[in-house]
Amino acid sequence: MFCLIFGLYTNFSFIFGQNSKRLYTTLCNSYLMQEITGLELSPKKVEYLKFLFKKGDLVRTTDISSQLGVDPSTSTKTIGDLAESGYVEHIPYRGVRLTEIGQKYAEFMVNRHNILSLMLSHYGLSSEEACEEASRFEAFVSKSAVDSICKSMGHPTVGVCGKIKHVSCGIP
Ligand SMILES: [Zn+2]
Ligand SMILES: [Zn+2]
Repeated sequence: MFCLIFGLYTNFSFIFGQNSKRLYTTLCNSYLMQEITGLELSPKKVEYLKFLFKKGDLVRTTDISSQLGVDPSTSTKTIGDLAESGYVEHIPYRGVRLTEIGQKYAEFMVNRHNILSLMLSHYGLSSEEACEEASRFEAFVSKSAVDSICKSMGHPTVGVCGKIKHVSCGIP
């Protein structure tokens, strides 16, 4: 309930500044994860979060730009946006890492990828093709659609791209 009230308050965080939003993300992680649509981030930002998730720790900004094939000024801006939204933390001269909410969101994105690539593999695509195709459109598939697809496939636990978890579909 507190989160709900505070959430309403922070909907106006553009008036009150980013600090309230950060506080909100820290306090209400689990609440936020229930509320995500899965469509919050652009395909490019999805790539950033998945890359950071795969690395698992502090990543230098130069590694991010070289690995994702973007120029440093673009990646600096994108990282700034992600930090402002509370998904990553940028420690000057050391690098970038996921915040707790970023970590949870990245887990959702990896899971979404694994469910969608498994689904495509059921329609005649090889594992590699399924992985590549899913990567192209996954950022546009909502969390509720992913949950429904997962359910219709009988909540599989292993996909062609890795393990599948069912945190959001309510299966333990
Ligand atoms: Zn894959
Ligand atoms: Zn499921």
